[in-house]
Amino acid sequence: MDAVTLEAAAARSELRPDLRAAKRLVVKIGSALLVDAAGLRRGWLDGLAADIAELRAGGAEVLVVSSGAIALGRRVLGLPKGALPLEQAQAAAAVGQIELAQAYVAALAPHGIQAAQVLLTLADTQDRRRYLNARATLKTLTGLGAVPVINENDTTATDEIRYGDNDRLAARVALMAGADMLALLSDIDGLYTGDPRHDPHARHLPLVPEITPEIEAMAGAAGEGAKGGMVTKLMAAKTAMRGGCTLAIAKGAVDRPLSALADGGRCTWFPASETPAAARKQWIAAMKPAGTLVVDAGAAQALRRGASLLPAGLRRVEGVFERGDPVSVSTEDGAALGAALSGYNSDEAARIAGLRSGEIEAALGHPGRAAVAHRDDMVLWG
Ligand code: GLU
Repeated sequence: MDAVTLEAAAARSELRPDLRAAKRLVVKIGSALLVDAAGLRRGWLDGLAADIAELRAGGAEVLVVSSGAIALGRRVLGLPKGALPLEQAQAAAAVGQIELAQAYVAALAPHGIQAAQVLLTLADTQDRRRYLNARATLKTLTGLGAVPVINENDTTATDEIRYGDNDRLAARVALMAGADMLALLSDIDGLYTGDPRHDPHARHLPLVPEITPEIEAMAGAAGEGAKGGMVTKLMAAKTAMRGGCTLAIAKGAVDRPLSALADGGRCTWFPASETPAAARKQWIAAMKPAGTLVVDAGAAQALRRGASLLPAGLRRVEGVFERGDPVSVSTEDGAALGAALSGYNSDEAARIAGLRSGEIEAALGHPGRAAVAHRDDMVLWG
């Protein structure tokens, strides 16, 4: 199908991804949706909360990445309009984040949903140890029925805080959480072939199956300083698609923004071509191993049936590595079984090799984790 036919099909909604089919959805909320000159837009947030409750009732897990801390905090502190120096923006975020988190708690409570505040930096998503911990926490929170409300930890950010940072953070969070869908809600309803404010011929694109240089040029034309920051949104789309996550750029300034999007509201979809799990396995498979987990025959069989690697099946450890590092998994006769991210560093892994779960705490002096390598963090060859 060429681009024109694709677009026509997308407009007829044949190829349009279904938001209500998402298993794990990340929703990114831009500051302008949540905060205006009068302060927090409670009515809008209530509509979003109702949408979140509905999607969860339909079986989806929902995570929110929300901006708005600086916008809320600057009002409280009486800081002037316009760009703030970094330290003032950080101070404003520290004040505003309390109100922001509280607003989500209040909006979700009537639906019987608990909000959980998670503050991350982009560096947390790059360091594999921190990444694994944040991933486990997010998984535990959604498993317990809470909705994580995530923002950048602005007070420790060392670079200038730029609007658009949260688009990138949201894409990283989506990958970290294994989300299959990411909705970027802001003040722009998608990607255009040019800047719609200046170019009368600029056409809206409902579907972008692949981010080509031509598409990137369109985002550039829409202007980074302009509302919506299309360049960072496209970077987020690239990250998401690579991780098996379908992304939508949609206008959030309607009463029930997720219902509107699910019911066919105007937006640009960037469909992923594979599942998050498949993309994650490719990512793990492509990394250079820092060591080897040598397992016994029983564990090798269990792994092939899809189990996690438990300490009991681990015979020995080769190499020196940290928790989160990529490792090979092999049998005692040296046959390569696969690759994994290690749940333990090499020292601790060696100390618990062969132990049953109940013996780990005594060996380590702390409870530790059940798996030496979790099945989600493992790929087996052939
Ligand atoms: N973290 C910032 C805030 O909460 C916003 C950054 C962004 O919108 O990209 O105010």
